[in-house]
Amino acid sequence: MKITVSVIKADVGGIGGHTKPSDGLIEAVRHTVKSSGDLLLDYYIGYCGDDVHIVMSHTKGTDDEEIHKLAWDAFEAGTQVAKEEGLYGAGQDLLKDSFSGNVKGMGPGVAELEFEERPNEAFTVFAADKTEPGAFNYPMYRLFVDALSNTGLIVNKSLAKGVDFHVMDVEDGTIAKLSLWEDKPTLEAALMYPSRYVISSINTKDGEPILSASTDRLHNIAGTYVGKDDPVCLIRTQKLFPATEEAGSVFNNPHYVAGNTRGSHNMPLMPVKLNSAATINFCIPIVESLVFSMHNGKFTGPFDGFSTADWDYVREIATKKALAIRSQGFIHPATLVPDELEYADGYNDRMNILKSKMKPMDSKTVTNDRKENYEDPD
Ligand code: 13P
Ligand code: MG
Ligand code: MG
Repeated sequence: MKITVSVIKADVGGIGGHTKPSDGLIEAVRHTVKSSGDLLLDYYIGYCGDDVHIVMSHTKGTDDEEIHKLAWDAFEAGTQVAKEEGLYGAGQDLLKDSFSGNVKGMGPGVAELEFEERPNEAFTVFAADKTEPGAFNYPMYRLFVDALSNTGLIVNKSLAKGVDFHVMDVEDGTIAKLSLWEDKPTLEAALMYPSRYVISSINTKDGEPILSASTDRLHNIAGTYVGKDDPVCLIRTQKLFPATEEAGSVFNNPHYVAGNTRGSHNMPLMPVKLNSAATINFCIPIVESLVFSMHNGKFTGPFDGFSTADWDYVREIATKKALAIRSQGFIHPATLVPDELEYADGYNDRMNILKSKMKPMDSKTVTNDRKENYEDPD
């Protein structure tokens, strides 16, 4: 049976800041999804920091209007509660006044895959908060390209052939297909700058879908900062695809990603347990792993992939790396480059004052100084 798994997420409000949704907000989202009759085969609702994700299975295919509208309506219902409760950023990611066919380009993030269900279909959803879609560049590179991180690339016949990456330029929405192993250095050049080029999907060489990730840049939609583009990524595992533990393990080296407080800093990506709040320790970026089995579109799970004891140690590494980069305060690279700063208005105000105080250097002084300091090499 051909099944579609759609993961649609949005931030529609947090308790006392960008922390986590309230129980009432989640209940409103759940109530809307539950009332959708027989549209869905199954669903799961959870959150990562202040971002609510709805994982749905159905037979409508990707980009389906009814499915997207259901998610939009659910987030609108959540927004209503967020407003009634005075939550912070109520309706933050709903950037358009009314639904128009597809939530893409309207604020919510979407990761969807349609495939012929295997007898024991396995997939994992990685949901992140306080970062951007490019946060998946490094772990997915490790998973599909780096055999030192994933022995499956040597011993699994399908993965050893190499996969096809689809990489999006988030500035203009164009997508390049890069095939392993011939396009490896080009892929590496693209993944090098995660704020510009992000992985949108990955297929096997035979066209079997493995991965889909959300790619929206809220900034590009709203024209101003309204929150980071906290991403989700859906990845099928086992058999022709990476093993579940291979997919999880590539998050065991908390790499620095853009985002966190005011969406304007670099901090390590910390794997956390399901339904974790964003930490008020400067909003260290977080990622959750929702491990599912599926049969006839019915979910079993999610198992909390980052809940076992070993991940406590990884969390400790992430915390240490977070404190280390915070120790240099606002000095770049603790902060992002000006083009990526999310509170650009305030920064530009400061720069305008700075520029107004800038005067040309006295050319005489320069020439004399240079002469005094200059020594002929022997
Ligand atoms: P979110 O993108 O998670 O809403 O966070 C925004 C922010 O600026 C946190 O400091
Ligand atoms: Mg928020
Ligand atoms: Mg968020």
